[in-house]
Amino acid sequence: MNQDKTQHTPMMQQYLALKAQHPDILLFYRMGDFYELFYDDAKKASRLLDISLTKRGQSAGTPIPMAGVPYHAVENYLARLVQLGESVAICEQIGDPATSKGPVERQVVRIVTPGTLSDEALLNERQDNCLAAVYHDGQQFGYGIIDVSTGRFVVNQFGKEEDLIAELQRTQPAELLYPEGFGWFHLLEQRKGLRRRPEWEFDLGTARHLLCQQFGTRDLVGFGVEQSATALCAAGCLLQYVKDTQRTALPHISGIRLERSQDMVIMDAATRRNLELTLNLSGTQDNTLAEVLDNTATPMGSRLLKRWIHQPSRDRQELTARQDMIATLMEQGRHEGLRPLLRQVGDLERVLARLALRSARPRDLSRLRAALQALPELQELLAECSPGCLDPLAEGIGQFPELADLLERAIIDNPPVVVRDGGVIRDGFSPELDELRELAAGAHRYLEELEAREKAATGIHTLKVAYNRVHGFYIEVSRASAHQVPVHYVRRQTLKNNERYIIPELKEYEDKVLNAQSKGLALEKKLYEALLDRLLEQLAPLQRSAGSLARLDVFANLAERAESLDYCRPELTDDEVIEIEEGRHPVVEQVMSEPFIANPLSLSENRKMLVITGPNMGGKSTYMRQTALIVLLAYIGSFVPAQKARIGRVDRIFTRIGASDDLASGRSTFMVEMTETANILNNASRHSLVLMDEIGRGTSTYDGLALAWACADALANRLHAYTLFATHYFELTELAGLWPRVANVHLDAVEHQDGIAFMHAVQEGAASRSYGLQVAALAGVPRPVLTLARQKLAELEQGHQPPAAKGRQKPEVQPSLPLFDAEPDPALALLDDVQPDELSPRQALELLYQLKQARREA
Ligand code: ADP
Repeated sequence: MNQDKTQHTPMMQQYLALKAQHPDILLFYRMGDFYELFYDDAKKASRLLDISLTKRGQSAGTPIPMAGVPYHAVENYLARLVQLGESVAICEQIGDPATSKGPVERQVVRIVTPGTLSDEALLNERQDNCLAAVYHDGQQFGYGIIDVSTGRFVVNQFGKEEDLIAELQRTQPAELLYPEGFGWFHLLEQRKGLRRRPEWEFDLGTARHLLCQQFGTRDLVGFGVEQSATALCAAGCLLQYVKDTQRTALPHISGIRLERSQDMVIMDAATRRNLELTLNLSGTQDNTLAEVLDNTATPMGSRLLKRWIHQPSRDRQELTARQDMIATLMEQGRHEGLRPLLRQVGDLERVLARLALRSARPRDLSRLRAALQALPELQELLAECSPGCLDPLAEGIGQFPELADLLERAIIDNPPVVVRDGGVIRDGFSPELDELRELAAGAHRYLEELEAREKAATGIHTLKVAYNRVHGFYIEVSRASAHQVPVHYVRRQTLKNNERYIIPELKEYEDKVLNAQSKGLALEKKLYEALLDRLLEQLAPLQRSAGSLARLDVFANLAERAESLDYCRPELTDDEVIEIEEGRHPVVEQVMSEPFIANPLSLSENRKMLVITGPNMGGKSTYMRQTALIVLLAYIGSFVPAQKARIGRVDRIFTRIGASDDLASGRSTFMVEMTETANILNNASRHSLVLMDEIGRGTSTYDGLALAWACADALANRLHAYTLFATHYFELTELAGLWPRVANVHLDAVEHQDGIAFMHAVQEGAASRSYGLQVAALAGVPRPVLTLARQKLAELEQGHQPPAAKGRQKPEVQPSLPLFDAEPDPALALLDDVQPDELSPRQALELLYQLKQARREA
């Protein structure tokens, strides 16, 4: 870009001055009906939005790259840009083009950034949208999020990188602020919406000052964050950024909360992903726990439920209260009655945020009205519920009869989208407005009469009175009749087929109509603003009400789900147990066409590890995950898919499931597996639930077995964690005989002829065999390969025994063995014939396992 501004046209000079204030983000520069972008912004927008890149005249000797979007469709383009993590400064024409000398005055009126959205059109209604900031003070991470669309402001601090990864994954910020020179940038690199901020924006003193000013308090003691300095640094930067971008007061951000990890059941990033809580492994929402569990009536309820799913609570009192409320709503069937009322309440939380930001549209107010109108009936329903466990909720919800009445009187039934063109305030609300409207309407009537009168007087039947913005009111007559017009008609304009005239009388009424209309509009805007003021006086209780309504929605939803899906109320106990009767996998049971086989689980002080064996596809993963999901559901206060469940204290849930190469960060499957394993072994306690699936698969058989053995040892004998350990290493089934607290269970399968039937039933004891060949057959491994494998298996079973595990010592590590015999192997020759390109990934994988297994047994 040419820096010498004097060579530019005055308009481009203005543009460049504005752009200089927003160098890092796209500037939408309003010109008439378009927002234009220039130079690099234009190139970028053209690429991101697929709009054409053109050139504008010459400035400083070279054509300027330019791209534009029509103003009436701007929301669409903004939505796409924020999706991509981009921010946009919106620059409007402020001055009046008619009176301006040089370019019209322009100003950046708002900055749209992915993490600070409140506009309905730009938000996904059933998903939180937040801005986050991270800071490190040399010892700890401070992390905070702010949700401008609801006012939620939460911080925490922690010491480990894994915790930061877990927090980022849990909160999924749309935009993330980090300080210049942040030493852990490698943890953030892959994210969209990254914004580097100057170090001083994280200054502790400034943060305290800003926060106190925002909350109108002298200190931060009341929020319990006073001691959390690192978290406060992040919070200060967040608030500063929101103020900078919103450029308006933020009364809905009225407090801050510190989250403490000891209050929650902790899950790391891998666990959240593996358990497919709100996203499945392919990144969509199908077949996730949230999909099954979320039948909420309001978007705010849906968002709250998802937050709970990601953050189970360890507050026993709170959990019991939640269970009580669900039980009450369920027993008395109240949830059904509440549903339509809650639907009417809608997304009160976000409506209130827009009210606070003064960007509430007329329809937000009609929604607020609908919500408030639903409250009396809703309260009646709650009052009928006994026992009184719903009382605190009812109290939080409250009632707002005066505001409801005000809105009923003030806003018409179906208001238009914007206030700009009027027609929002109901007749009868303001006598002054009624009068202006009457005047305007009266003048309109008068003009109709005038048209009829002039038609009669002149005898011109094509004569009509019309209006346009440039010429005001005029009388239009067809060209052919123009010679008939009276002399006092003054010609204004000649068109191809018509002539247009004015007369003094018309001018006089034009003034009256336009005057009344514009005064009416101005008054309507004023009344609207005054209405916002009145509503804002009650912002805090209204926000409290929205919070309680969201909770009620979640409880009503969980009651409905429990009833429809046949869930039971789990007993939360201090005993060291996890005991489940007829447990089911909440998601698998929904997607299967065949009946799901319910299974028991029993873990206790003396039985803390289950070594799970059984064929591939037998149901091991399902069984392990269902256990984790049942525990998680119990710890959000929900009922669970089982006949009965008793669940002791749980502080963390860990999973090490499945093999997924983390290609993006260049880590191999085995490296990922070991990183996750290390995390488990470093953090699990006797209250942790650990799922280990096929640990040690990614390396050679002996390495793998040795590692699996040693991990099992640590979990069973040192950490005493609740552990489900699924394995292909039959050697590990011996552990039950060697160590206390370890038991074997297996998933049943029945062989018949060539095939295999999976029973999916969990039985005590170890599986008798692995059924590898049968599963390979099911998967479509070519027949000749199977026949040969079967021969080979028979030979092996006769000739060799698998290496026996020897107590707690590591198995002997032997040099790698030839696959079958020392002789050139016909299997290898045959494998040469396999066309790798014709195998599905699954067939290939099965084949590999097959070969591994054979190799191990050789
Ligand atoms: P494994 O981990 O042993 O390979 P999975 O847990 O992946 O097996 O289960 C394989 C398939 O078997 C599942 O996709 C599901 O369709 C079915 N399945 C698993 N458990 C059950 C069950 N308890 N009842 C009915 N079907 C089940």
